[in-house]
Amino acid sequence: MKNLKREESEYMPDIKGDPRDFYEPVYTIGVAAAKLGVSVHTLRLYETEGLIIPYKTDSGRRLYSDLELEKVKCIKKMIQEEGLNFEGIRRLLAFVPCFKLRKCNTSHGAKCPAYNIKTRPCWATEEKCADPYPSCRDCPVYRKIVSCEDVQNLVYRSFCQS
Ligand code: SF4
Repeated sequence: MKNLKREESEYMPDIKGDPRDFYEPVYTIGVAAAKLGVSVHTLRLYETEGLIIPYKTDSGRRLYSDLELEKVKCIKKMIQEEGLNFEGIRRLLAFVPCFKLRKCNTSHGAKCPAYNIKTRPCWATEEKCADPYPSCRDCPVYRKIVSCEDVQNLVYRSFCQS
């Protein structure tokens, strides 16, 4: 699995324990669903809606890490407590400043199709970014959105910090 690269932003989510364990895909879909108290269908739906990216083995089996578990908790909270639907969550995630987290230069960011689509997070766009990771799952933009607080902090950075 790809480690975070040095050029990336200093923003770090609040991860408990060893980050290597946190990002390691170890839970089958059944185990992940049971730990979260949701159905397998719900996890597949969140994936189809572009909100989470489970790891896929060569045989196509899905595996989830603690990162996905925390993301699902945040998605549930946004739906149940904030009244957002999938479209609303996608649009909110689209404001996460991926070019800052990747430290893209301004002209690169201005041209990047993934950054300029404001209806979905960059990893859920068909165009992808100008400098894609082999898997968006390993990219800091996906990895640094762990909790709802991270979404809030990162969106704040998008609007309020140059
Ligand atoms: S590699 Fe994927 S997640 Fe990372 S910035 Fe590009 S589109 Fe977004």
